[in-house]
Amino acid sequence: MKSIDIRNVRTGVYDYALPLCDANTVNSAVAQLRTHQKAWQNTSLEQRVKVVKQLAHKLNENKTELVSALIADTGRYKESILEVDVVIKGIERWCEQAPAVLQSKEEKQAEVPFLKIKQTIIPYQVVGVISPWNFPLLLSMVDAIPALIAGCSIILKPSEVTSKFVTPFQKVLDQVPELSKVFSVVTGAGETGQAVIESVDSLCFTGSVATGQKVAAACAQRFIPAFLELGGKDPAIVCHDADPIIAAKALCWGSMVNAGQSCMSLERVYVHKDIAEAFITELTNNVAKLTHNYPDVTQGDIGPIISDKQVQIVQTQLQDAKDKGAEILCGGNVVELGGGSYCQPTVITNTSPDMLVVKDETFAAILPVVIVDSDQHAIELANDTVYGLSAAVFSQNIDYAHQVASELDAGAVSINDASLTALVHEMEKQSFKLSGLGGSRMGKESIFRFVRKKAHIRNVGVESPWWF
Ligand code: NAD
Repeated sequence: MKSIDIRNVRTGVYDYALPLCDANTVNSAVAQLRTHQKAWQNTSLEQRVKVVKQLAHKLNENKTELVSALIADTGRYKESILEVDVVIKGIERWCEQAPAVLQSKEEKQAEVPFLKIKQTIIPYQVVGVISPWNFPLLLSMVDAIPALIAGCSIILKPSEVTSKFVTPFQKVLDQVPELSKVFSVVTGAGETGQAVIESVDSLCFTGSVATGQKVAAACAQRFIPAFLELGGKDPAIVCHDADPIIAAKALCWGSMVNAGQSCMSLERVYVHKDIAEAFITELTNNVAKLTHNYPDVTQGDIGPIISDKQVQIVQTQLQDAKDKGAEILCGGNVVELGGGSYCQPTVITNTSPDMLVVKDETFAAILPVVIVDSDQHAIELANDTVYGLSAAVFSQNIDYAHQVASELDAGAVSINDASLTALVHEMEKQSFKLSGLGGSRMGKESIFRFVRKKAHIRNVGVESPWWF
């Protein structure tokens, strides 16, 4: 099998050969899944839940090995531990939620008096999951687990940038034989992803808008559903009556945590002129205190930029901002440490709307701040984007904060806080604009995305034959 060399995020050395699964490998994996899926679908929901819970148990037992691989993939420590814990917790929650969502319903009287109806739900046979590099395990499982519980089988293609976790994950899967028959992992880059799209019955994709658009077109061509969770440029509005100290602390965290490499990172701030000075001073002080997790991966706040392509994007955006006259209040560069590339925690002012760092997704520890004359102007600027993932609003008047939030084109808005979306498992939410397409990945709908509803209807009141 062909392979490509993958760069070590902390040393910069291309030291890992990633196997590139071709279309034949993908097709035979999917053929195998199809032969086993029927039995999985026919297994009782109770049993499927039991088997998926075993996966959580085995993930926990093998946590040390998984965390090591995730550290090798992403160059970060605390977040890698958290990632495994969040997956385990998520599995428990979906297992609790599933019975209420998936339980088959008794036959009942239809509105038409002589008919009885029974609704059944039929899972898609094979669901493809294509995931990105920023949370390699979590963003592979977030769609796979509810789909498995619904009775589907899964073919997963993780990002080529962060696939070292696949080996320990496969070992975990092998310890749950019932599940390993309906869960396959293939490694590779875009071509392997395309082969997955060509062979599955439904597709979940998490990644950039550019790739998401290609994926959507390919799925449309095959007439299969595509659930797309894409990029963002999440705005925060710090209103005239916000507490500048709280806003500065929350936004320091919301923009810098995971080195800014979360889809729900806050990537631009619009602050009212009346509190701008206090806010910007506090924000800059907070951000300037953050340190890199180098040389000790277990210390510090900010890990390396995980993808080498992203390094280029971040450098280009910083240079563009400097060339167009931005003021760098702290940070401002990508630095090389031990061969890894780290973005200095950066706050930028004196920006203009045409700067790349203000309008394009950055995905790094950089926060541009724009001073506005009114909260209304902040709303207009926040909405002036192709993205609509999430946002944040800061105001000491909660009714007013809700009012501002309601005017924002985004799927979720944190109030006087940052990135709360990640914590609310039961909340159904969708992406606006180019940030995504399809049903909610959270809440009951996350499971319902993977089944089709079917009606059985029969005549119980009119003498047959009643047709002409
Ligand atoms: P990407 O679009 O480059 O790649 C994502 C996945 O798609 C990878 O596995 C890649 O190999 C695969 N791929 C590439 N070309 C393909 C093709 N033609 N057909 C099928 N698959 C293909 O994204 P990335 O750089 O890995 O991830 C970062 C992006 O993901 C950011 O834009 C970020 O905002 C987004 N993201 C979104 C969410 C969300 O929930 N909305 C969460 C995390 C990340």
